[in-house]
Amino acid sequence: MTDRQTCDVIVIGAGSAAFEAAVAARRAGAERVVMLEKAPEAEAGGNARYSGTGFRFVHGGAAEIREFLPDMPRALFDTMQINPYTAADYHADLERMTQGRIDRALAEVLVSQSNAAVRWMAAAGVKWEPVTEHALVDGKRYFERGVVLHVAGGGPGQLAQWREIATGLGIEIRFDSPVCGIIGDMRAVEGVRVAGRDGSYELRARAVIACSGGFQANREMRARYLPGATDFMKVRGTRHDTGEVTRFLLDLGARPAGQWQSGHMSPIDASAPDFETPQNADGLGNTQSRYDYPQGISVNALGLRFFDEGEAQHSYTYAKTGRAVLAQPGAVAFQIYDAKGVKLFRYPKHAATFEEADTIADLARKIGVEPRVLVDTVEKFNAACPAEPPFDPRRPDGRKTVGLDIPKSNWARPLDTPPFRALPVTGGITFTFGGVEVNGAAQVMNVADQPVRGLYASGDILGLFFHNYPSFTGQTRNAVFSKLAGEHAVRAN
Ligand SMILES: Cc1cc2nc3c(=O)[nH]c(=O)nc-3n(C[C@H](O)[C@H](O)[C@H](O)COP(=O)(O)OP(=O)(O)OC[C@H]3O[C@@H](n4cnc5c(N)ncnc54)[C@H](O)[C@@H]3O)c2cc1C
Repeated sequence: MTDRQTCDVIVIGAGSAAFEAAVAARRAGAERVVMLEKAPEAEAGGNARYSGTGFRFVHGGAAEIREFLPDMPRALFDTMQINPYTAADYHADLERMTQGRIDRALAEVLVSQSNAAVRWMAAAGVKWEPVTEHALVDGKRYFERGVVLHVAGGGPGQLAQWREIATGLGIEIRFDSPVCGIIGDMRAVEGVRVAGRDGSYELRARAVIACSGGFQANREMRARYLPGATDFMKVRGTRHDTGEVTRFLLDLGARPAGQWQSGHMSPIDASAPDFETPQNADGLGNTQSRYDYPQGISVNALGLRFFDEGEAQHSYTYAKTGRAVLAQPGAVAFQIYDAKGVKLFRYPKHAATFEEADTIADLARKIGVEPRVLVDTVEKFNAACPAEPPFDPRRPDGRKTVGLDIPKSNWARPLDTPPFRALPVTGGITFTFGGVEVNGAAQVMNVADQPVRGLYASGDILGLFFHNYPSFTGQTRNAVFSKLAGEHAVRAN
C-alpha cells in the first residue's frame, strides 16, 4: 500500500463542517488528516462560499460579545444593544421551530456546547464581526437575541481563515476528489473509495468523518423526498451537494434521521440563477435573499395574501417561507412594500429585481396581477391594521391585523405611502433536513441502533431539523458536531 492510500482520519468535503472536523482531529493528535473534496479548487468550500456564516450560540450579553470584538472602537461597540441568549432561550427556539420533534439529547449537545464551540473557533484563530441584521433606532443598533456575530469576511472569509489554519497544521486537502464509495459495513468503516482524476483508488484510515452536506443540489433526490414542485427549486448554495455520500451511508446501514420531506427554503429573487446565488462584494450577505417581508405584505400571482408575514422576526420564519412561496400558483409571489417599508430594508445594498408605481393598481399592472384583486387585498389589509400599539421594528410589537382570515401578527401598518414597490420572489433551497443519525459523540448510528465504528458525521448531512429552523444554527451545529467528531475520531480503533 502506498503512502497515498493510508492516513489517520479522512474528512469528506471541504466546507466549514469539514475544516472544523479536520482541525479538531489534528489538534486532538491525529498525525495525518486528509480532506477529500469533490469540487475543483476554484469551486470548493460548499455552502459556506454563499453563506453569511452567522452563529447562534448561548452567551451572556454585551460583555461577553465584546470578547469576540476586541478591536472594535468602544464608542461603536456601545451603540450595540445586545441581550443575553440563554440555554433556555435556545432550547425554546429549537423546540418551537421543530414543533417538538428535534432529538432532545442532540439539542442538548448543540445548546450546551454552542458557546464552547464558538470559543474553540476563536482560540483556533477565527475572527468575528457583528452581523449586519439589526434595527437602528435613535443611533442604537438593536440585535436579536442570539443573532449577533458572524465570522469576519462572511462565508469566503470563513473558508480562507479555516484553510490557512488547516494547512498550517499540515492537513492535506485533495480537491477534485469525489468520494464514490465507503469501505466497510454497518458495524465498522475502514476507508473510502475516491474517483481520482487519474483513476479510482482506496484511501484507508482509522476513522472517516462525513461532512458532505445535504442533497439539495440533486434534482432527482429533491423530487424523490421533498413534497411539491421542489425539483424546480432554485438552489441558494453550492451545486456540489448532491447527496451521494448520504446515499452510500444509508446503503451501508446508517439510520436516517431528521425530516426527509423538508428543508431550509427561503424566499429569494425570482430571477436568481438555478444554483449558487451571488454574495455581496464584501462577502457579507447573499444578494438574492428577500427577508424584509415583515415590513410589507406578500401576495401570490392572484393578488392574494397567503401567510402571516408578521408571525415573528424573519430569523424565525424565513426558512419555511420559501416553501410557502413554492406552493403558490407558478411557484412565485410578490413582496409588496410602501415607502415606509422600503426605508426599513435590512439589506439596502442588495440590488433587487423590482417594479415601482405610485398607485397599487399601477403596480399590479406592472407585475401582471389583476389590479382589482390587488387593490382589494391592500384595502382590506389597510383597514385591518390597528392604531395601537405603536410600531416598533426592534421586536414583535403586537400590532396585529383585526378580522383577516390570514392575520399579520406584528408590524401591521397600512400600505399608504407611495411609491409602492413589488419584489418578485420564489423559493430557494438552502439545505435539506433529512440525513443520518449521530449520537452525542457525532458517531453515525446504524439501523441496529449501534454506533458504526470509525464513522462520524457533521454538518448538513446530519438529520436534525424538522419543519423550520432558527437562523444561524447550521454553522453552530457544524462547529459543535465537527469538534466532537474530530476529537472522538482520534480515539477510534
Ligand atoms: C446563501 C446561504 C446563506 C447561509 N447563511 C447562513 C448563516 O448565516 N448562518 C448559518 O448558520 N448557516 C447559514 N447557511 C447554511 C450553512 O451555510 C450550511 O448549513 C453549512 O455551510 C453546511 O456546512 P457543511 O459543511 O455541512 O456543507 P457544505 O458547506 O455544503 O460542504 C459540503 C462539501 O462536501 C463536498 N462534497 C459533496 N459530495 C462529495 C463527495 N462525494 N466527495 C467529496 N466531497 C463531497 C461539497 O463539494 C462541499 O464542499 C447559509 C447557506 C446558504 C446557502
